[in-house]
Amino acid sequence: TDTIGTTTLLDWITRFRDAVVEKRDWLTELDSAIGDADHGANMARGMTAVVDKLGGGVPATADELLKGVGMTLVSSVGGASGPLYGTLFLRMGMTAGAVTELDAAALAAALRAGLEGIVARGKAEAGDKTMFDAMSPAVDAFDAAIGGGADLASASRRAAEAAAAGRDATLPLVARKGRASYLGERSAGHIDPGAASTAILFDTLAAAIAG
Ligand code: ADP
Ligand code: MG
Ligand code: MG
Repeated sequence: TDTIGTTTLLDWITRFRDAVVEKRDWLTELDSAIGDADHGANMARGMTAVVDKLGGGVPATADELLKGVGMTLVSSVGGASGPLYGTLFLRMGMTAGAVTELDAAALAAALRAGLEGIVARGKAEAGDKTMFDAMSPAVDAFDAAIGGGADLASASRRAAEAAAAGRDATLPLVARKGRASYLGERSAGHIDPGAASTAILFDTLAAAIAG
């Protein structure tokens, strides 16, 4: 059957760590235009702490793995992104539960709960120029693909494409949440850093599922 197990979830987390470390300077450059130039450092530090804490061992269940990721992000990243990504993973873990494998519907439910957690925490709406603008279309695309009978590999690839499109669509927006909102109209003309890291999150999910 078509499922994602704890080993693949850990591979996702490790790939996400590798990618944010590799793209640290670019993420920081995006944040220097409309924020405080630390998003790359925040994500690299947080995800490095996550993978270090896991210590190479594969946790027994999806909730143990995902909740651990969330707790480490909350405790190791001071910026807005730490609690927001932390909440995403905590809610994903709570929704996944103590299982070793998630099928497409279970992964969709976990991603949806994670997105809802981010909204509960940060109150972002569509078009506010935040990570929501990449994540919400990604989760919608994942659901739509699964609903249309796609397998995990193609659904996650479509979600990654939607996240990248959502990231790019933040460019002209005026920020209404987070530090970038302090700039008002001057925030337009720049990609949102959190939307950029979210596109990386979904790209690495698709890559891990593809194997
Ligand atoms: P900080 O702004 O504290 O320095 P980061 O630079 O690490 O934190 O993260 C900034 C990103 O966090 C923004 O680009 C945006 O995507 C996201 N963000 C900020 N506030 C919110 C919010 N209220 N809801 C959703 N995302 C938000
Ligand atoms: Mg910042
Ligand atoms: Mg900061």
